Amino acid sequence: MTEQVAIGIAGVGKIARDQHLPAIAGHSGFKLIAGASRNARIDGVNNYQNVEDMLAAEPLLQAVSLCAPPQVRFSQARAALEAGKHVMLEKPPGASVTEVTVLADLARQNQCTLFASWHSRHAPGVETARAWLAGKEIKAVNVLWKEDVRRWHPGQDWIWQPGGLGVFDPGINALSIITRILPHAFFLKSAELFVPANRHNPIAANLDFSDALGTPIRAEFDWRFGPQELWQIEVTTRDGLLHLAQGGKFLKIDGEMKDIGQEREYPSLYDRFFELISTGASDVDVSPLQHVADAMLLGGRHEVEKFED
Ligand code: NAP
Repeated sequence: MTEQVAIGIAGVGKIARDQHLPAIAGHSGFKLIAGASRNARIDGVNNYQNVEDMLAAEPLLQAVSLCAPPQVRFSQARAALEAGKHVMLEKPPGASVTEVTVLADLARQNQCTLFASWHSRHAPGVETARAWLAGKEIKAVNVLWKEDVRRWHPGQDWIWQPGGLGVFDPGINALSIITRILPHAFFLKSAELFVPANRHNPIAANLDFSDALGTPIRAEFDWRFGPQELWQIEVTTRDGLLHLAQGGKFLKIDGEMKDIGQEREYPSLYDRFFELISTGASDVDVSPLQHVADAMLLGGRHEVEKFED
């Protein structure tokens, strides 16, 4: 494909402004022509209150990037796919696992690309970690994903509401990395969910997974941590220790820092979206969201102190 893809953004909030708008502006394959947001406006393009109005008024639109909270992902994506547009979903790709598979079917029927994006998989250490771990004997995996919810989600109510995932909103980033780098599929064996007395979703969670070989995989997510965040993954193998730090920005193997290049998660996501559109393909992996759903199914719930913003 040589022409630019005309794209619109829906849900112009924190992640759209911090990452999507700069990534699109810096990508030669895309041209932003519209925005759809109830309150926010993007300078220099046509703005609409919702996705349906944008689709109706912009016949030249070819693709839509959905950046609103997950509870509204399905209806926005369905509208775009039914209008024949390619769709990129922010993470998590939906509020339920099955709705994402319905969207994948819709994309197929309408011959559109559906890209369920996992930005943390595009952190610079991830593919090198995956290549190093391929074929290795894994002895244990430890994930610590801890941050201050007040710092990262100030005033965001949707994270506490059904479908908002609570601490799994960041935790799913760790799950998106380990589902990519570990050589074997794994499954949840038990979980503990810590839920504030006045909220629907957990503020912390401890998860114990295993693969078919019985390898212990432990993940601890906590939103009551700070001021510095801790986003790290350690994989102990027969051949040494792999350590991913700062969400995959740094990679050490047996204590030696690896040269993995600069962080460019969102530019890389748009490279991938462009490639998928160009080749008529989709990329929809629900496995990180499936693990969260399993945690909600299996997890023992423990009431903890109320959370006030
Ligand atoms: P946000 O700022 O709270 O929400 C994005 C925007 O979506 C809001 O500003 C709002 O704009 C619109 N919106 C909110 N509720 C809506 C509703 N019910 N119907 C339609 N539009 C609605 O959240 P965010 O932090 O950008 O997160 C959005 C998504 O990006 C989430 O899935 C999150 O997991 C993901 N993400 C966030 C980050 C991050 O650092 N924040 C990083 C990576 C991924 P209007 O009021 O103008 O409609």
